[in-house]
Amino acid sequence: MAIRKSKDRVASRFTQSGTQKSLDIGLEQDKDKDIGIIKRFLEKPSSPIDDISSHWVQFLERISLSDKGVLVVQFAGEPARVAIPVSMQPLIFESFHNSLLGGGHFSWRKTLHKASKKYFWPSMRPDFLKWTLECVKCQQKRNPHPSQREMQKVVVTSHKGSLFTNHIGIL
Ligand SMILES: [Zn+2]
Repeated sequence: MAIRKSKDRVASRFTQSGTQKSLDIGLEQDKDKDIGIIKRFLEKPSSPIDDISSHWVQFLERISLSDKGVLVVQFAGEPARVAIPVSMQPLIFESFHNSLLGGGHFSWRKTLHKASKKYFWPSMRPDFLKWTLECVKCQQKRNPHPSQREMQKVVVTSHKGSLFTNHIGIL
């Protein structure tokens, strides 16, 4: 693996939908355990790279840096995709699944298809499946029977109630 400059233009900032919060992707990548190690190695090949998780190892050959210092992953014949640090992964999912602008609570496959055009991380596929299954709005869509929804609510409430009681007990 050597430094290759990506020819594609990729975003260097990510704005959370519905907020004014804008994240510097390069900076978030530096803070990420695996992506940080890969970036430091690319910038200084004597840096240790043994510690990266096995999920990233198979993608090392596809990695390069954009001109703004953003790590990208590129598959043959496709545009470069920004490598997403763990801290930003739920934000990317939300912006393509449940945001007011880009969401719409589509199936996990559709959501993954849209997000994959610009972004990448190794466990993207299982994560999108898991988070779609956990999405409350999607659960209600799959199971619109009101009495069953009530039952789910009761379970959650009593669970919270017992946590609260425990907390008071400790105080
Ligand atoms: Zn949903």
